[in-house]
Amino acid sequence: MTTSPPSGRMAADTKAALLSRMRQTGAPAAAPAERHYDTAFSTLPGFEQLKLMRAATGAFGIPSPFFRSHDGRAGATSIIDGKEVINFASYDYLGLNGAPEVLAAAREGVEAFGCSVSASRVVAGERGFHREFEQELAALYGADDAIVYVSGHAANVATISTLVGPRDVVFHDELMHNSAIVGAQLSRAHRRWFPHNDLDALETLLAAERGNFGRALIVVEGNYSMDGDTADLARLVELKRRFGAWLMVDEAHSLGVLGARGHGLFEKTGVDPKAVDIWMGTLSKTLASCGGYIAGAQDLVDYLKLSAPGFVYSVGLSAPATLSALSALRLLQREPERVARLQANTARFIAGAQAAGLDTGQAEGYAIVPVIVGDSLKAAVLSNRMLERGVNVLPIIHPAVPNKAARLRFFVTSEHTQEQIDATIAILTQELNETGAFIQRLASSGLGDMLESAAELGKV
Ligand code: PMP
Repeated sequence: MTTSPPSGRMAADTKAALLSRMRQTGAPAAAPAERHYDTAFSTLPGFEQLKLMRAATGAFGIPSPFFRSHDGRAGATSIIDGKEVINFASYDYLGLNGAPEVLAAAREGVEAFGCSVSASRVVAGERGFHREFEQELAALYGADDAIVYVSGHAANVATISTLVGPRDVVFHDELMHNSAIVGAQLSRAHRRWFPHNDLDALETLLAAERGNFGRALIVVEGNYSMDGDTADLARLVELKRRFGAWLMVDEAHSLGVLGARGHGLFEKTGVDPKAVDIWMGTLSKTLASCGGYIAGAQDLVDYLKLSAPGFVYSVGLSAPATLSALSALRLLQREPERVARLQANTARFIAGAQAAGLDTGQAEGYAIVPVIVGDSLKAAVLSNRMLERGVNVLPIIHPAVPNKAARLRFFVTSEHTQEQIDATIAILTQELNETGAFIQRLASSGLGDMLESAAELGKV
């Protein structure tokens, strides 16, 4: 009778021989000759961009405008480097992040449930507040149900990559947020983009290509985060019906912002929200928390709860995150005057900026106002100079926006005062004039081109 080891296990003598060989020093005889493998992170393709950026800004002493640290709750004002500034870089559109009842809800959540639910909801992470919140979100859209994820980014990635596959197609606006693009890439579905808000182009694409694929998903944003312009929902619904596609609308910047009561794109356009297959939103903006959601038909939500990796294999939303968002959602519905203030503030900002000759692009008056300044360097320098003058606003540079369309992006909130808005426009106008000459000098030194090409490299 032979004494072979159980399958998958090594006989003791084979194991001893192998261990003895492994302990021998020196290169094994069969090692591949002289092949070089890159193990340094600095050899990653995108790293060239970082090196160029560091060299360009280091040589000219321009501090990076990114990763500025805030020393407290950032709203219409904030504290940066110990100094109070007017802040246009917060998504707290309705000031709910500081509302006493929202803070109290988070505190009570922590007291009752701790800081984490410690497990996926599928196993031990389910709590009553999850369902309560999901049902109230669903009710907002007249939807059957909703599902919440740990971030808005995760909501888009997990949902899109779960719903479509290699035989399918995703049509999306060229300015669609990274999370939806990554979801589409992971899904391995075919991807077709159309020029920003150009629904004639979408129709042409659908007519030419829809028939080549199994399922089709059209993805748009309700209120675009780079330009502050909105989608034509009625036409999108007509197209998705005619061509047999699902329509998904990302309301990250629409909830609390669009429509008289801040309910979003459907309220602004008067379209029945049930006509949209997939409503997506985030908790990190108006809802003063952290997380993301999908609302829609029962079958959709049930399917995602069983199949979306970012839900099934990720922790459930914590009590403070859920309960603060739930409280903010209720407050938003109870106090529509906040929405009216936000819209009035944005209108004032745009009118003032345009009167001062600034280019606010396509902004329609809903919280997001770009001031387009041209090249990336100019936007970065201006952002730094604005901070020195007591205004925090961040630059958006190529490739996040088209070449030579770099901008300062202002997020207006309901809590900004008219004085803050007017003062900011006055400072910006002055700085734009004064920065012009400075930029000319830097541009002639080649820094502008270096930054542009660094950004260009980052597109890979
Ligand atoms: N969608 C859009 C349009 C966004 O702007 C963002 C974030 N800025 C997200 C999704 C991701 O949301 P979160 O930050 O909550 O992950």
